[in-house]
Amino acid sequence: MQVLSTIQEMRLACRAVRQSGQSLGLVPTMGALHAGHIALVRAARAQCDVVAASIFVNPTQFGPNEDFAKYPRPFEQDCALLEGEGVALVFAPQPGEMYPAGASTFVEVGGVGDRLDGASRPGHFRGVATIVAKLFHIVGPDKAFFGQKDAAQVAVLRSMVRDLNFDLELVVCPTLREPDGLALSSRNRYLSASDRARALVLSRALDVIAATYRAGEKDVARLLETGRSVMATEPEVRIDYLQIVDADTLLPLTEAKPGALVAIAAYVGGTRLIDNTILR
Ligand code: AMP
Repeated sequence: MQVLSTIQEMRLACRAVRQSGQSLGLVPTMGALHAGHIALVRAARAQCDVVAASIFVNPTQFGPNEDFAKYPRPFEQDCALLEGEGVALVFAPQPGEMYPAGASTFVEVGGVGDRLDGASRPGHFRGVATIVAKLFHIVGPDKAFFGQKDAAQVAVLRSMVRDLNFDLELVVCPTLREPDGLALSSRNRYLSASDRARALVLSRALDVIAATYRAGEKDVARLLETGRSVMATEPEVRIDYLQIVDADTLLPLTEAKPGALVAIAAYVGGTRLIDNTILR
């Protein structure tokens, strides 16, 4: 496995893969890898000849009072995991490599980029779209792998790929969960044991909404009420948003339908967690 930290080295290595006629898969990450990331790598391995992963805690997608500085960076451990999964190329640049002094061009995905997390975290999706566009240009993958866990991010990146004509396929992989339902997240390691227990309320609320929908309730206001009443059983968990939206546009629905996205963000202690489910 090659670990590369400059754009030039990564470009050359990826170009060599493409010129050899092999297909190239990209798995972008911020590191602090868990089984959810590994599932993306395995999907990439199954669908592509060569897999590249990036590890980059992207400063432009964090707000001024967010956890950029304290975001976990267990770099050696992450590299060992990726090597064990058969990843060929790891791109791990420093912030100055990706954003040299004077860098002033950003990718703004209008509309969808301002909804859900884009509304709660102004500028977040501008940072995400910019870094992912840069990675796409540097790597030139045939396929790029993302998690359904970040459903709003998927909607934003789909729009970006369509609008800017990126010649690649986005592959979205299902959310990996702990046996008790908690969605795997690098931020789960911030949780104390008691917060870890409280955090289960997010997936419980989503489950209740999905079950109520399956039982025949279509009215979004009533569905959201069932979710909010579950959330109320953990008064120390503060809802940031709980919405039922169109999965592509992220616009709120009044009537639920198959394929609708139920998305939640909530603060558990000081940690902001997100989760979602698709209505079927
Ligand atoms: P991150 O390192 O948090 O930026 O995540 C990198 C990629 O892993 C993103 O595409 C995420 O959606 C995906 N991911 C994060 N958590 C999970 C999970 N529990 N299951 C599947 N994919 C995930």
